[in-house]
Amino acid sequence: RSAPAADDPALVGTPPMGAFWMPFTANRKFKQSPQLIVGAEGMHYRLADGRLVLDAIAGLWCVNAGHRNPRVTAALKAQIDVLDYASNFQSGHPAAFELAARLADFAPGDLNHVFFTNSGSESVDTALKIAVAYHRARGDAGRYRLIGRERDYHGVSFGGISVSGIGRQRSTFGPLLNGVDHLPTTHDPVRNAFSRGEPVHGIEKADALEAMLVLHDPSTVAAVIVEPVAGSTGVLPPPQGYLRRLREICDRHGVLLIFDEVITGFGRLGANFAADLTGVLPDLITAAKGLSNGAVPMGAVLVRDGVHDAFMHGAAGSVELMHGYTYSGHPLACAAASATLDAYLEDGLIAQAAALSPYLEDGLHALRGLPGVIDVRNLGLLAGVELAPYAGGTMTRGQAVAQQCLARGVMVRAVGDTIALSPPFTISRAQIDEIVDTLRAAILNTV
Ligand code: PLP
Repeated sequence: RSAPAADDPALVGTPPMGAFWMPFTANRKFKQSPQLIVGAEGMHYRLADGRLVLDAIAGLWCVNAGHRNPRVTAALKAQIDVLDYASNFQSGHPAAFELAARLADFAPGDLNHVFFTNSGSESVDTALKIAVAYHRARGDAGRYRLIGRERDYHGVSFGGISVSGIGRQRSTFGPLLNGVDHLPTTHDPVRNAFSRGEPVHGIEKADALEAMLVLHDPSTVAAVIVEPVAGSTGVLPPPQGYLRRLREICDRHGVLLIFDEVITGFGRLGANFAADLTGVLPDLITAAKGLSNGAVPMGAVLVRDGVHDAFMHGAAGSVELMHGYTYSGHPLACAAASATLDAYLEDGLIAQAAALSPYLEDGLHALRGLPGVIDVRNLGLLAGVELAPYAGGTMTRGQAVAQQCLARGVMVRAVGDTIALSPPFTISRAQIDEIVDTLRAAILNTV
């Protein structure tokens, strides 16, 4: 059925606000004038006041194949009639094995093994644990250190915030994991402002890894984790050659390389993964979001043959990795993910994302020169428009612009003073124009 109309009984009245402690939200402010989403279809959300708004962020960078994608909806309806839940601990159901095989085909190189989780945070924790346990499985138990990077976001678990590079998300949670260090961010607005695609300057930032390994003794380091494009801190594409150099340094020192592709995976950059786009093969990829089109929570860690195989020794009856989630490979999530893959592959949505990205790039770079626009960055259908911060006040310029956009019918996401854009791949050129025109008006109206 289509999204509910304004007079739908579901819209009458506002639910009680007190009990739900909302995640990553200014709860008291939100609850004063709640803006509720009550329906979705294709490129649009419907708000409780009946308005349709264009979703320029794909939910939370996850609904890549469009809202209520018919393939996904049909697959979920069919699955719930057959099998609601089955554990994958010492038992199993066909959809999880079938999906894993499809993901192994979809992923580059010999990333042929899949560990299912339910979120990006769980994928990150799983990948970090696999990395440390891998070295131990090979008799190299001295490798325990983990290296992250400033400005990278890796979810909210203790493992994830330990390697993440966002001070505000770490500082209130006490001591984190031992033995973690951070590379410098690659963000370099002085040299790279208004880059199109991967910026020219900054490959040498990867050399900090070499120095850091020497500092800590490389034989103590288990893994390096980076987001190929840092999303949540403002859309920061990697400098040309940077990821390849990280790979080379990791290889020289026997350190595993993990790409956190929770945002960049599943076509966001116009290729299956950032690993495909850049030609750099990590040892593990963490994924979630676009994996199941956001319809059912699901995450996955993709693992190369050599890493997986290191665990497959000892008594055949022993559990090789003491790790897993009740809902790892949940039947409904598998159905959603498999149908999402069909949409990406059979409906050509990833090719569509690639074809549309120059159009989005041109549209957004045309905003250069507007008052306070200090940078535009983009790769694939992922982009950020950075604004000069307000001198004072309680609201950031980013929030002011995002609010203006919503009032004008387009939902964007403010990450600090950067407006992040990651629309579903089903977007039309006319809708890209609508985003750009709305942003222009909002920027001019918030000077
Ligand atoms: N890693 C990256 C790169 C992300 O962008 C996110 C979420 O935005 C996560 C991990 C955490 O994912 P989740 O919120 O599903 O736990």
